[in-house]
Amino acid sequence: MTPGIRPLIAGNWKMHGSLREAVRLAEALRGGVPGVDLLICPPNVHVHSVAVAMLGSRVAVGAQDCHAALQGAHTGDVSAAMLRDAGATHVILGHSERRANHAEDDTTVCGKTEAALAAGLIPIVCVGETEAERLAGHAESVVTRQLEGSIPYGFVTAGGIVAYEPVWAIGTGRTPTEEEVAAIHDTMREALVDRFGPAARTTRLLYGGSVKPANAAGIFALPDVDGALVGGASLVAADFLAIARAMPE
Ligand code: PEP
Repeated sequence: MTPGIRPLIAGNWKMHGSLREAVRLAEALRGGVPGVDLLICPPNVHVHSVAVAMLGSRVAVGAQDCHAALQGAHTGDVSAAMLRDAGATHVILGHSERRANHAEDDTTVCGKTEAALAAGLIPIVCVGETEAERLAGHAESVVTRQLEGSIPYGFVTAGGIVAYEPVWAIGTGRTPTEEEVAAIHDTMREALVDRFGPAARTTRLLYGGSVKPANAAGIFALPDVDGALVGGASLVAADFLAIARAMPE
């Protein structure tokens, strides 16, 4: 973790669960964990109900993706303002599943991030290399390029968050070594400070990819790891809370 940064544990529920299950899972997290911010990102269609269920709690509610446009003829899409109106405070953007399954490139992600900022949402921009890119020794250059292309002006001062999510670690049970995580987080911090100045020293940098209660403490002890973006383990309340409790005080 980084001294002076309040840690964040964010859950990405992806396309799982019914509305009833989403509200029940959220309610199980209501009490939060002292010293740690919790954020849950249900499917966009469940955001409003989960946000209403979490009113007065210590748990923030975010969305998964938004459109880059303010409004218009975009059948099936939702705007950042609609998500804000529904009760979201954050939005995950540029997740590798969006980059791979919806052909989102850095320019697309940057446009969505600008839209999120304009609507008053805090963007969580995801970056990360594929396994082939890591094996070829390109992990750091890929992440640096994605950061450069996906993050617009105004991101740091608005409290934007970056999540390092190596594609090959998502949902696989595999994680980079602690040294590899630390190296990428250091690279990201320096790239952000180079571009945005010292304010980027307090930008939250999350790690994501097969975070579990068993490996969380080791990851959170690393410098410049200010929390986690959690997929599978965020669907089990006890596991999500155990991950948050693994954050050093
Ligand atoms: C994710 O999809 O953002 C993620 C980190 O998934 P998991 O924790 O399941 O690897």
